[in-house]
Amino acid sequence: MDVIRTFVPGSFANYNHLVYSEQTGEAAAVDPFDAAFLVDVAERNNLKITQIWITHEHGDHIKDVAKLKAATQAPVYAPVTCKGKVDADHWLEDEQQLFIGQQAITHLLTPGHIAGHGVYLYLNKQAPESDFIIAGDTLFNAGVGNIKSGNVDELYDSIEKLHKWLTPGCRIYTGHDYIETNLKFTLHYCPQLEEAKTTLLNVAKQTPDSRSVQTWHQEMAYNLFLRLDSEEVCSMTKCAPNRKARFTELRHLRDQW
Ligand SMILES: [Zn+2]
Repeated sequence: MDVIRTFVPGSFANYNHLVYSEQTGEAAAVDPFDAAFLVDVAERNNLKITQIWITHEHGDHIKDVAKLKAATQAPVYAPVTCKGKVDADHWLEDEQQLFIGQQAITHLLTPGHIAGHGVYLYLNKQAPESDFIIAGDTLFNAGVGNIKSGNVDELYDSIEKLHKWLTPGCRIYTGHDYIETNLKFTLHYCPQLEEAKTTLLNVAKQTPDSRSVQTWHQEMAYNLFLRLDSEEVCSMTKCAPNRKARFTELRHLRDQW
């Protein structure tokens, strides 16, 4: 199992992903924004789109679901918490497995950015370097999803849940290319954070298409929302009394920035 990431032209800095089986050439298209573009990407890589997966109901994540379904006849899978908000053929529970060929991927419910949100996690005990997560708008590089239509307590719980599931080498595939802005926020408050500085220098040389894919281990070094017990987060949040309070204050600071 592996992933092709595409930066979608004309979108809101959205990434779309094809999760595919090397053995069978079958692929799941996640959050299709532009059906024709995705079909073209699949064809150029000798893949056949046989499933459509949704992370959440926001318009930029479901824009071309119906068009892609019409073009491919692929069934649509969505988190059960999106019922009534999106059209789907299959509703996914927490920890439910999906299959592409023989290979399993786990769907996790991750409310917070919005009540109905799910992520797709591939873990391979024999080859942990091939682990990855399709994180939608729950987790971003150097940040987390906004809560304009969500709830910060739920988002905190969902990020804590990811701490339990993700492996150090797990590659993080996000719904948008926000890394540069998020690192600038990080460095505004934590100018001494070396990992943020060096990552921003690298990122500045890249385009959204060539952006390196970061691992969970790398994220832990500069993503403040994953570093709730660090000195810098303690001082930024005036040593709020617990992890959830520090997370909430961080989200607030990011919203104000
Ligand atoms: Zn969203």
